[in-house]
Amino acid sequence: MRTASERRELLKAVYEEARGCTRCPLHQTRTTVVFGAGNADADLMFIGEAPGANEDRMGLPFVGQAGKLLDKLLAEIGMERGDVFICNTLKCRPPDNRDPHPNEIEACQDYLRRQVDLIEPTVICTLGNFSTKLLREDTTGISRLHGREEVRIIGPRAVRLYPLYHPAAALYTPSTLEALRADFHRIPELLALGPPEQPRALDGIPELDDLADVDEDGDEEPPGVGEPEPAAQLGLF
Ligand code: URA
Repeated sequence: MRTASERRELLKAVYEEARGCTRCPLHQTRTTVVFGAGNADADLMFIGEAPGANEDRMGLPFVGQAGKLLDKLLAEIGMERGDVFICNTLKCRPPDNRDPHPNEIEACQDYLRRQVDLIEPTVICTLGNFSTKLLREDTTGISRLHGREEVRIIGPRAVRLYPLYHPAAALYTPSTLEALRADFHRIPELLALGPPEQPRALDGIPELDDLADVDEDGDEEPPGVGEPEPAAQLGLF
């Protein structure tokens, strides 16, 4: 088990690594790597799409109009940025705010996965299509998925994944804003559920070759000797 301060130090090391990243061509056009900001031990994490012009200049996520809406919605549920961690699928701005390219998402996803691993959130709100599709490993779009929470394994942990419309999409479409607000207001309810049941630690599971029959005295018996153990069978299938 890592302590919160150990995880925070490790997150800082990932940030240092990302700051000099040249894994995709976006490093040639970015001003700043926008790693993410907020509470490194947050229960709630938001993952957007990619930095825009303002974010690229300031080095912080969601500092434009979409960010103001995010702040407003957070305030409506009694939270602020310091309570959560906010980042993006891509850490560098795509030129002219175009959509992320698949090779960029592929190159960048390791940073996001390490962020999730180190922050250990209970609830992850994916904002819009790109982060939703990436973390669900599925092409289903946000208009079908928004507001539907599900437990997903991301890295070694189970989280409550909660897709939401992207705030930028809600800025100019009242019906999208209404849906985003209604979904957002359910976040406290999801946080109150606490972390979902976690998968069994893989390092606690013996290799199949190590599963020799052991009798009540602890002596090994040759395979096939002694009563079959139904529970052991269940564990294998
Ligand atoms: N700002 C961000 O940081 N991310 C987005 O996805 C949009 C605006």
